[in-house]
Amino acid sequence: MAERRDGTVLCPGSYDPVTNGHLDIITRSSQVFERVVVCVVNSPLRKNKTLFTAEERKGFIEEATGHLGNVEVQIFSNLLVEFARQLGAKSIVKGLRAISDFEYEFEMAQLNRKLDPEIESIYMIASPEYSFLSSTGVKEMATFGGDVSDLVPGSVAAAMADRLAER
Ligand code: ADP
Repeated sequence: MAERRDGTVLCPGSYDPVTNGHLDIITRSSQVFERVVVCVVNSPLRKNKTLFTAEERKGFIEEATGHLGNVEVQIFSNLLVEFARQLGAKSIVKGLRAISDFEYEFEMAQLNRKLDPEIESIYMIASPEYSFLSSTGVKEMATFGGDVSDLVPGSVAAAMADRLAER
């Protein structure tokens, strides 16, 4: 395998819940960079309530990435660039699916650059088999009893079925 680049990168997101698309980006990042910190957004002020708590979301990612030696998971509830500075990370890696992601990410990258020009946003193009996959889509499918076992880790599929049944 090629040598990894020095330093820490962040892979931020809500991960409600983590999907195989997220895991593809995290795994690929771990092959390129020395240390990957997956950052789970904990935003109690958000209008849309999450299906899983930040601790639960973190747990699913830890379980799915345990075999990758250079990946860790942390919860954050401050500005992403501030959190990056706290961890000494100079880069943020994000996945890009379709044109719709581009518009949002374009804005976020410009805002983050304004807040801290030293932190670089890096984009990885989604693998074709996951380019249609989102946490929102998976939750919608699961709500209506669709089979999501190919789209998320097994434990996540089971937890989603339980959580949605409680509602
Ligand atoms: P979602 O849009 O699924 O709710 P998040 O807010 O948790 O996702 O996204 C975290 C990051 O993962 C974002 O950079 C997002 O573009 C990326 N991402 C989400 N789903 C995929 C996928 N299927 N393939 C590649 N990247 C993805």
